[in-house]
Amino acid sequence: GAGARGSSLIQWFPGHMHSTRKAIAERLPEIDAVIELLDARLPGSSANPLLAELTAAKPKLKILNKQDLADPALTTLWLDHLRAQAQTQALALDAGEAAPAQKLIAACRALVPGRGGMVKPVRVMICGIPNVGKSTLINSLLGKRSAKTGDEPGITKTEQRLALASDFILFDTPGMLWPRLVVPEGGEHLAASGGIGRNAYDDVEVALALLARVRPRYADRLAARYKLADLAADSDEGLLSAVGRQRGGLLPGGRVNMQKAAEMAIHDFRSGAWGRITLETPDEFGQWRAAAEAA
Ligand code: GDP
Repeated sequence: GAGARGSSLIQWFPGHMHSTRKAIAERLPEIDAVIELLDARLPGSSANPLLAELTAAKPKLKILNKQDLADPALTTLWLDHLRAQAQTQALALDAGEAAPAQKLIAACRALVPGRGGMVKPVRVMICGIPNVGKSTLINSLLGKRSAKTGDEPGITKTEQRLALASDFILFDTPGMLWPRLVVPEGGEHLAASGGIGRNAYDDVEVALALLARVRPRYADRLAARYKLADLAADSDEGLLSAVGRQRGGLLPGGRVNMQKAAEMAIHDFRSGAWGRITLETPDEFGQWRAAAEAA
């Protein structure tokens, strides 16, 4: 399966992690609750294990962001799974949400009932790996377009302190919270979704892993998108060739340009052209983690 080829897939090293760890640890004593933004399409793989370790004792709000791109039924599964964890609230959001501040503030207040009011304002820190949509959300919380956003990870670096209400302060993460891989599947999912910079992986390998992951749950979507009669008859490579042929990724002589085909498959997934897709369930991610720990 996709997992077997995953371990050698991503040439990725979490740089700057030590300085971020230190900066977060220094900030934590004055923080009441920690918000972790996750990608709703890959809530397990987009979580940061360092953050979990640093904030073990803190109340937490997990936000499944980009829910507009994720499978609604699996988002519900993940929300239930996260809410079952100690001191944890969870909600799903996307950039189209009209009033994200109200939802975020209400969920945080419920986590820290002892705080609030001018004397003891609620102080929360918002964290998330690059490209999860943090700047977009902060902009929308601000109600204007000011922080920079971009498609490639690593663009947002400014530190901010925002008063979302007279007694509610939101701190941005001090430093960059790079993804850290705990399971091989996580690297594939992060690469496919844009959570890892392009030069850290091979497009063809990532596209093949993505197709292998998506086809069992969403075969009908792929068949419709690429006009395939019998998806089951194709290998992952055959499926990727079909993507290339359908999308005009051909070399002179009619051979499929697999690099182009891979870029197109990844683009189609990211842009939502396959419909709303989630790459992992809580059970699957738990099994992968158990396997990785046993190895
Ligand atoms: P950051 O690196 O976490 O600050 O991420 P950005 O806010 O720069 O967002 C990364 C990319 O995801 C940008 O192309 C955004 O337009 C896009 N994005 C952010 N939030 C959402 C969302 O809720 N839904 C969708 N579909 N795209 C989003």
